[in-house]
Amino acid sequence: MKPSVGLWLLALLLHTAASAQTPGTNPFGAAPQVAPLPPKTTYVLAGHLLDATNDSVQQTMVITVEGERIKAVASAANVKIPAGANVIDLSHYSVLPGLIDCHTHLSARADRYNEIYKFKDTPFDHAFGAVVNARKTLEAGFTSVRDVGSPPFLAVDLRKNINEGLIPGPRIVASGPGISITGGHGDLNNFSPQTRVSMFPDERNFQIADGVDQIRHVVRAQVKYGVDVIKIHSTGGVLSRGDSPGAPQFTLEELKAAAETAHMAGRKIAAHAHGTEGIKNAILAGIDSVEHASLIDDEGIRLAKEHGTYLVMDIYNDDYILNEAPKVGLPQENIDKEKMVGQLQRQNFEKAVKAGVKMAFGTDAGVYPHGDNARQFYYMVKFGMTPVQAIRAATSNAADLIGRSADVGTIESGKYADIIAVHADPLTDVRSLEHVDFVMKGGTVYKDSRHE
Ligand SMILES: [Zn+2]
Repeated sequence: MKPSVGLWLLALLLHTAASAQTPGTNPFGAAPQVAPLPPKTTYVLAGHLLDATNDSVQQTMVITVEGERIKAVASAANVKIPAGANVIDLSHYSVLPGLIDCHTHLSARADRYNEIYKFKDTPFDHAFGAVVNARKTLEAGFTSVRDVGSPPFLAVDLRKNINEGLIPGPRIVASGPGISITGGHGDLNNFSPQTRVSMFPDERNFQIADGVDQIRHVVRAQVKYGVDVIKIHSTGGVLSRGDSPGAPQFTLEELKAAAETAHMAGRKIAAHAHGTEGIKNAILAGIDSVEHASLIDDEGIRLAKEHGTYLVMDIYNDDYILNEAPKVGLPQENIDKEKMVGQLQRQNFEKAVKAGVKMAFGTDAGVYPHGDNARQFYYMVKFGMTPVQAIRAATSNAADLIGRSADVGTIESGKYADIIAVHADPLTDVRSLEHVDFVMKGGTVYKDSRHE
């Protein structure tokens, strides 16, 4: 249809609608003038504010929240709060931006590792778990997550339902299933060849791809169903069977095709990589973040710096995998693999921090119970970060990695009002972040257990 014809039709429709309204038939007389309600204004009194735009803490500040967003941040001395205004008093608290975990699996459960559930669980079981876990994550102070691996396309639907306000949860940057080679970290290995678990055989569960053409196809198919980010397995894994965490699983050429196709679609791409060579391949392919990065060597660290690649190193969950997961059915093969990489990963984290590589906070939540995400801060500080560095890895730097710096990651005018508060000073005791007393997301309070 030509634009002029369209406009003409529109004019005709408007004319018809106008003449259908006979003046004087409205029982209220003239058409009511409904003014939109002004957005609700809330004044948040922040005793100690780490806004994460820099490393310093400001005292006695006021954050003015209008609707979903922050309108102003100023010293209390310069803010005149009108009488009767809505005030949230966090003057005895340390106030920070909502935290961001760049590596979660909201649909995954850590309370049972028996392989039988790979066959018993339905997509609905996964989704019910995700609803519960989304709330736990939000109430732990994580107002945004990048969810990097779930059944197709659970994270996309979870994002939609949270954004529509149907269920409470963090903002979600959603991936599809992690893309894997046949027999790789994302495949179901070592069972009878007659065994199949696949909802979409033609698409190989939107997950398994071999060779450049299949990779381009699966990335495009995931984009078609609404993912924000692509996840690909560059090496073997710890919690899969029959593969080695150290071994590369895609060629450099295949990873390049994945990165190029993702970027062409305006998506970032994250690579799961434990092994030294697979880490370097991911960086050289132009992938935006390396997940785990357990066995990164000096050359890998140098390459990550040179390419500006983020490392997302999950250095808490080793405790859980070795101490708790075996009690709930984790097979010996996986325990052995964790023993190979867990401690080395912590040492290599320290080297990467010293070298000044870009780091974003990510924990692999779902491997350990959701809601315990902040337990990783302790290890980040133990292995070389200052508390403020660790906090910025989970706020401003994480927002940069997930491409959401315009909306989240700092407490600044124009950003979403994603605000948390803790009672003790997180810069002297980073573990205080494990006990978040107040959570606001988009101007709405989701948790308030303030105390003296
Ligand atoms: Zn993971």
